[in-house]
Amino acid sequence: MPTNDCSITMLGTGAAMVSRCYNTCFVLSTPQTRLMIDAGGGNGIFNQLERARIDLTGIHHLFVTHCHTDHIMGVVWIIRRVSALIAAGKYHGTLDIYCHHEAAHALRTMCALMMPEKLYAPLLHGGVNLNILDDRQTVRLPDIQLTAFDINSTKTLQYGFCATLPDGQRLTCLGDEPCRESGEFFGRDAHWLLSEAYCLQADEPRFNAYQKHHSTVADAARMADRLHARNLILYHTEDETLDTRRERYTAEAAQHFHGNIYVPADLETIPLT
Ligand SMILES: [Zn+2]
Repeated sequence: MPTNDCSITMLGTGAAMVSRCYNTCFVLSTPQTRLMIDAGGGNGIFNQLERARIDLTGIHHLFVTHCHTDHIMGVVWIIRRVSALIAAGKYHGTLDIYCHHEAAHALRTMCALMMPEKLYAPLLHGGVNLNILDDRQTVRLPDIQLTAFDINSTKTLQYGFCATLPDGQRLTCLGDEPCRESGEFFGRDAHWLLSEAYCLQADEPRFNAYQKHHSTVADAARMADRLHARNLILYHTEDETLDTRRERYTAEAAQHFHGNIYVPADLETIPLT
C-alpha cells in the first residue's frame, strides 16, 4: 500500500483560549479510514471541516482525548449534526466514538442537558456509538490498529493513542500535556510523534506554559529526540505569534531534534510519507 495515501489534516492547531485559529483537532486519513481526533471547542468545527473540504458523512470514527472544553464541546455539535444527517437519510453506517469513561459520561450528560432527545437520539438508540476504552486497550478500525493510553495527566483523565498505519508506520499522539512515562513507552521510535508545544522557550514567562502544564517548543523537541522519533508535529500553541510561528518554532525545535519538524497551520494537510 503506498504510504502517500495516509495523511493528517489539521482542523485546528491552537490551545484552549485562542481566537485567531481553532482549537487543536485533526483528521487522520488512510485508504480505508477517516479518524477524527477531538473536535475543538464549539460549532466552529463545521466551518473548519467545510474549509478543509471534509464531508462529515465520510467520518465514521472519532477519538476523544479528554473532557476539557477546547476538545470536547465540538464533539457535542458533531453528534447533533450526525444525528440530523441520520434522520434525513444522509449519513450511512454508524459514527463510532472512542474515549475513556469520563468523556463518555460527559458527552451523554451534555447532550441530555443541552438538547431535546430527538437531536441526539442515535446516541441513545444506535447510530452514534460511545465505545469506552480502558487504558492500553486496542481497537481495530478498518485499516488502523489503535491503542489508547492514559497520558497520566496532572489535570484530568486524558488518553493519547498509538496508531499503526496500513504501511506499518507508527503514529503516536501524546495529547495536550507534557510527555510522561506512558507517552515515552508508546512514542519511542515512532515514525510520527504529535506533541503539544505551547510557546517558544524564551516566551515561557510571557505565556506561562509551565503554570498551564504545557511544554515549550524546546521541551517537546528534546523529548522527541530522546525518543528517537523520525517526524515531530507540534500543535496546541498560543496564537499571538501565528505570523512567525512556523519559522520560529521550527528553528527552535531544530536545535534539539534532528528529525523532520512540522509546525502546521490550521487546515494544513501533512502527507505521512
Ligand atoms: Zn487543550
